[in-house]
Amino acid sequence: MTRQGETRVYVGLGSNQGDRVSHIRQALSAIASLPGVCALRSSSVYETRPMGPQDQPDFLNAVCRFDYTGSAASLLQQLQSIERGHGRQQGGPRWGMRPLDLDILLYGEELIDTPDLQVPHAGLGMRSFVLWPLAELSPGLHVPGLGSVESLRRNCQHFGIRVHEEG
Ligand code: ATP
Ligand code: CA
Ligand code: CA
Repeated sequence: MTRQGETRVYVGLGSNQGDRVSHIRQALSAIASLPGVCALRSSSVYETRPMGPQDQPDFLNAVCRFDYTGSAASLLQQLQSIERGHGRQQGGPRWGMRPLDLDILLYGEELIDTPDLQVPHAGLGMRSFVLWPLAELSPGLHVPGLGSVESLRRNCQHFGIRVHEEG
């Protein structure tokens, strides 16, 4: 249950450059401190083989869930500012190495399709490193337009996922 005016949001975190654990931990506290964010919970940290170019380190990934007062567009801006604070550069190969990646996975039950923001996130239904931590946080979750997180998790690409650090 969320309070009036609040939206339940899920954000995916990834890092495969520098001190990966610190990038994930610091990003989680930065998100928890954003205006409008309350009751943040985070999953275990998982490790996966990279998607796309294979000549890069493995990723650490996690998902957090929180209740948010504000628009999805304002949240995206704030997440991008946290990414930049961790040295994230624009450009480079698609799905290349990065110190921090923050994606909005779900924004309540909303379907958003603007040039800058698609929600549910376009890769959500196929990626173990999103679906495993999502299912850990919210086992009964229904993903708008896609179905139950459990059935998606059973059928997604695996990327050699393993738990790196229990949540
Ligand atoms: P992928 O989106 O496939 O995981 P990526 O995370 O590497 O790839 P980025 O380079 O981080 O992609 O982002 C490219 C653009 O995606 C961003 O500038 C942003 O405007 C857009 N975008 C669209 N939907 C979302 C979303 N749900 N969360 C975050 N960014 C999004
Ligand atoms: Ca991403
Ligand atoms: Ca991204």
